[in-house]
Amino acid sequence: MALSGMLWRIIRKNMKTLTTKEVLARNEGWTEHFIRKFLPVHHSKRYCYRRRRGIRYHYAVADIERCLPLLKQDLERKARLAARPKGTSAEEKRQATFAKKFSTWREALPEGCALLFDLNRYAKHHSCTRGHKDEIYALKTDLIKLLYQGGYSVECYLHTTKGLPRICFGCDGLGYRYNGHECQRCEGTGTYAEARTLEFVVFQFLVGDQHYFWHSPRSHVTFPYRVTREESTNELTAEEKPITLKPAEFAGGKSLLRWIVAKKNSPSLLDRLLSA
Ligand SMILES: [Zn+2]
Repeated sequence: MALSGMLWRIIRKNMKTLTTKEVLARNEGWTEHFIRKFLPVHHSKRYCYRRRRGIRYHYAVADIERCLPLLKQDLERKARLAARPKGTSAEEKRQATFAKKFSTWREALPEGCALLFDLNRYAKHHSCTRGHKDEIYALKTDLIKLLYQGGYSVECYLHTTKGLPRICFGCDGLGYRYNGHECQRCEGTGTYAEARTLEFVVFQFLVGDQHYFWHSPRSHVTFPYRVTREESTNELTAEEKPITLKPAEFAGGKSLLRWIVAKKNSPSLLDRLLSA
């Protein structure tokens, strides 16, 4: 055992390799991340020391010397990124463009509504993720409030509709199991919950020369509104509709809606003069 240990030390000395710990101790800016990124493993050796087991990696000194300029480059790039002035992210660039393009939030509304129209459709699409959907609906709620309070509402009415009953997952809605017996879970009905009644407030807005019909769940409408006509009995359609917006434009669309809402909530002097 002692001999093999000594032999090992002699071999190591001749191979000129360093362990991870030794590379870190060179104080050249090496981190475990950079070691993994740049250095090829010369060889590895399992160790077992007082119940601790693991693999010790060895790196050739020649490789360390060779990769040093690459490491320096990476460290400098990282330092430059850290020193970069804040406010140059894609979102902030877009916000700055909107501020140049539109002098008031009202001016941005025709474009904003057209974008929300497409985003609203996209939110119903099967490929839309949950997080994305929540974000779009939150923006929609904000914009509906802004449009209503900004005087763009033409009509406002309630709409009640019955959702689909919940299908029993024990029998996939069949009411009986694979062996022909009645499903115990749903007592043969195939559904585990009654269809819920969904209540919506429908807002009809006129922005520019475009009419928009937007539904909002009644519980989501937190501002006071006045119903202008009888309840609608049309059935709501949950089907997917074609989307004209390109995926790359989604981020820009959401960005503009955020800008409009933020601008409305902190009006500039011009906004206040115009609305007075
Ligand atoms: Zn069942």
